[in-house]
Amino acid sequence: MAKVLIIGAGGVGGVVVHKCAQVPEVFSEITLASRTLSRCEKIRDEVRELQGREIQIRQIDADDVAATVALLKELKPDLLINVALPYQDLPLMDACLEAGVDYLDTANYEPPDEARFEYKWQWAYQERYESAGLMALLGSGFDPGVTNVFCAYAQKHLFDEIHTIDILDCNAGDHGHPFATNFNPEINIREITQRGRYWEQGEWKETDPLSEVMEFDFPEVGPRKAYLLYHEELESLVQNIRGLKRIRFWMTFGEAYLTHLRVLENVGMTSIEPVDYDGHPVVPIKLLKKLLPDPASLGANYKGKTSIGCLIEGIKDGEKKRVFIYNVCDHAETYREVRAQAVSYTTGVPAVVGAMMMLTGAWRGKGVFNIEQLDPDPFLEKLGEMGLPWHVKVC
Ligand code: NDP
Repeated sequence: MAKVLIIGAGGVGGVVVHKCAQVPEVFSEITLASRTLSRCEKIRDEVRELQGREIQIRQIDADDVAATVALLKELKPDLLINVALPYQDLPLMDACLEAGVDYLDTANYEPPDEARFEYKWQWAYQERYESAGLMALLGSGFDPGVTNVFCAYAQKHLFDEIHTIDILDCNAGDHGHPFATNFNPEINIREITQRGRYWEQGEWKETDPLSEVMEFDFPEVGPRKAYLLYHEELESLVQNIRGLKRIRFWMTFGEAYLTHLRVLENVGMTSIEPVDYDGHPVVPIKLLKKLLPDPASLGANYKGKTSIGCLIEGIKDGEKKRVFIYNVCDHAETYREVRAQAVSYTTGVPAVVGAMMMLTGAWRGKGVFNIEQLDPDPFLEKLGEMGLPWHVKVC
C-alpha cells in the first residue's frame, strides 16, 4: 500500500492516473498535481467514471522547487512520478532530494533554451541520491523505457554476445488531423528536427536530419519507411549493454507529416529562438504548440496501431542469432480503456509498472538508475498484465 504523487496532467499523466487507479493494492492513495488545475479535474472525473476511484488533485508549478517541497512534505508520498515535461526533471529531482522522496520519470532533462537530449545533468545526481538513501528511476516510458528493458532481457536470456541493436518505432495510426504530434509538440519536434546520431565501434556518428531511411516490416502493421534519429536511450544503452558494436534508433513518418514539418521548418516555425513580435518576444515553436491539436485530445478518433521493438543481432551458443522483441498497441482499444491514444498509453503504462517495481521492492537501490540496469524479469512479467503484451520473434 503506497501513496503516489503524479505530476503532469497531459496525455501521459492521464494514463498514469487511470492505470494506478486500477491497482489499489499497490497505489492506495493517488494525488495528481499539475500547472493547470482544470486538466487535473477532467482526469479526476474520468477516473471516477471509468475506474470507480477517487483521487486527490492539486495545482503546482513544478519549476518552483520550494512549492514542490512543501507539497511533498504535506502529502508524504512514497514516490513522485514525473510526467510533466523534460524541463521539470531537475527541479523535481531537487525537490525529491530535499523532501526525501523517491523519483521516477519517462524522459531525460532538456534545457529549455537548447535542444539537447542528454543524461549528464541527471546522472550528476548519483551521489546525492545515494547518500540520501533515495532511488531515482530514469526513462520508464516506452522508448526510453520498455525498449531498454527488452535489451536487458536479450542480454540476460537470449544472447551470449549482443552485436547490434536497432530500435524501431512505428505509429501506423491515423488521428484524422492534417498535422499533429502524438506527444508534447515542442519536445516531439525538437527531437525530430535535430541532427541524427548513432553509435558504432565506440564512436558517435552524425547524420543530417532524417537523411537515413530503411524499410522495415513491422508486426501487425506491414512495411513502413523508418528514419534514423538520435534518441536518448542510446546514451545509456551503450554503457549498459556489453560488447555492443552498433546501436541506432529509427522512427516511421508518413509523407504528409514530413511535408508539413519541412514547411514549418522552412518558415522558421520550429525554432526555439525568440523573435520580436510588436515588442513581445515569441518563441516560434511555443506558438506552434498553441496552434496544434493537444495530444491528449487526439484519442477520440484515433485508429490503427503502434508497433515498436528492438531488432537485436548477436551470438548464442556459438551461433548467429537475430530477434525482434516488440509490442503492438491499438489506439481505439486504449481510448476505450483510459480515454487516451496508444502513444500516451505505451508511455504511461511502463511508468506505472516501473512505479510498481519500486513500491513493491522488486527494484530497490540507492542512487540514479537507467531502467536497463535493473532486473528485466519482474518488469516484463507485469507489463503484459498491465496492458502491453510483448513478443519475441526469431528472424
Ligand atoms: P503534455 O504536453 O500532454 O503534458 C504535459 C503536462 O505537464 C501538462 O499537463 C502540463 O501542464 C504539465 N506541465 C508542464 N509544465 C509544468 C510545470 N512547470 N508545472 C506543472 N506541470 C507542468 O505531454 P505528454 O503527456 O505527451 O508527455 C509527458 C512526458 O512524457 C514528457 O516529458 C514527454 O517527453 C514524455 N514522453 C515519453 C515517452 C517515452 O516513451 N519515454 C513518449 C512520449 C512522451 P499544462 O496543462 O498547464 O500545459
